Amino acid sequence: GLHHLAFEVTDCAAAIEEARARGLELIDEAPRPGGVCLYRGCMPSKALLHVASVLTETRDARAWGIEFAEPRIDLDRLRSWKDEVVAKLTGGLAQLSEQRKVDHLQGRATLVDPQTVSVRRPDGSTETRAFDYIILATGSRPARPGALAVEGDRVLDSTEALELQRLPGNLLVVGGGYIGLELGSVYAALGSEVTVVEMTSSLLPGVDRDLVSVLTRRLRREMKAIQLDTTVTRLTPADDSVGVVLDGPDGEATETFDTVLVAVGRSPNSDIEGIERTRVERDDRGFIQVDRQRRTSEPSIFAVGDVAGEPMLAHKAFHEGRVAVETIAGQRAAFQPMAVPAVVFTDPEVAWCGVGETQAVHEGRRVTVSRFPWAASGRALTLDRPDGMTKLIIDPETDQVIGVGIVGVGAGELIAEGVVAVEMGATVSDLSLSIHPHPTLSETVLEAAEVSLGLSTHVHRPRRE
Ligand code: NAD
Repeated sequence: GLHHLAFEVTDCAAAIEEARARGLELIDEAPRPGGVCLYRGCMPSKALLHVASVLTETRDARAWGIEFAEPRIDLDRLRSWKDEVVAKLTGGLAQLSEQRKVDHLQGRATLVDPQTVSVRRPDGSTETRAFDYIILATGSRPARPGALAVEGDRVLDSTEALELQRLPGNLLVVGGGYIGLELGSVYAALGSEVTVVEMTSSLLPGVDRDLVSVLTRRLRREMKAIQLDTTVTRLTPADDSVGVVLDGPDGEATETFDTVLVAVGRSPNSDIEGIERTRVERDDRGFIQVDRQRRTSEPSIFAVGDVAGEPMLAHKAFHEGRVAVETIAGQRAAFQPMAVPAVVFTDPEVAWCGVGETQAVHEGRRVTVSRFPWAASGRALTLDRPDGMTKLIIDPETDQVIGVGIVGVGAGELIAEGVVAVEMGATVSDLSLSIHPHPTLSETVLEAAEVSLGLSTHVHRPRRE
């Protein structure tokens, strides 16, 4: 109850105060905190994706009787605006850390033993710190396996692609996952001819096919080509181009691209110097092994975020960080979410949480699925974006919503309702009895619940007995 909660919170506050008195330090190589997400991940990519959506929307506006002139792109200005966004955010974090009396020690950390860390400072000096606890949150970096481990100005990884040094005439994106599709969309909107090559038979492998197919349809319009079941087996950089060998359903082909973006996954930064002097264990993919409290096999060492396992998503890391800190502060905490949302910020966006339909089939779990097509949503039509779908994955025994999948504009915002529904154990009736504002896209969640009950106004399906 509340008393118990208040007691624990006071306890936690006392523990944090005590820790503060003994010192709270953040060790990071960058001059300001921020990590992958702020410097070379979520934030710069979302700034650029916003620009992409403005460009495509102004083009689409022709169909509504509004014609804009062809856009002129000032790449230098665009780059500095994106950098300003990042600088504001990292500056804000630096300020927040200071207000919370967290000292930022700039440098690279080496574990000396399970209670000591040494930090190599930018000026070459070394400082040593003893700690009671340390949380490893070293993130991940772009992977370049096998034939893709090629250096060259024209073979980019996501970090380099976000720097936006130049706009290639044509761009090959290797990998049809989150990064390939998000950054490929940015470059396509800015005017590059983009080809995406994906090794498996679908973009975003593992994500429900019906959601992905809505995105694929639109991407085929925006991009020059999407080649599935195709692997890049060789990259040969030349001065002003890259030769690429593609192995696809019709055999091998050699093509030349202006620039190549490699986006075939990320590797955890778990090769922390000195980690072998501790009992921290890693799995065969390099992820640090942790328990539900995010504690490693070394009691004084915790690990959170990309370095501690999939999914490599910032919001999963935030939550894990909280669990680790609460545990260190003596609270009972565990990382056991029912629904970690995932969002691919393409146009349309794809978002999902909880149990997916594909996953349920794979696990042999019986589920019912209720879909609401956005073509039946008034709000979607006013946006001229009927290309969307909202689906609920339902446990037929309890009628509880155990997963939600959405494709459509703004799906990333809409999925939050799905997360709350799954975490709260909401039934389809709970969703159907909650009045949703009209006219909004959020009604598609309500209507998907109503479809399941046979009560939807805009989709005719006979009522359930
Ligand atoms: P990913 O795992 O999402 O996609 C990589 C894709 O590359 C896969 O579809 C894979 O089949 C394909 N592939 C692998 N080798 C290939 C080859 N030789 N030729 C052709 N295709 C090949 O990885 P990513 O896109 O690099 O992203 C890495 C991680 O970063 C993601 O898993 C995600 O956790 C995170 N991320 C999240 C967001 C977001 O939340 N919006 C955005 C970007 C990145």
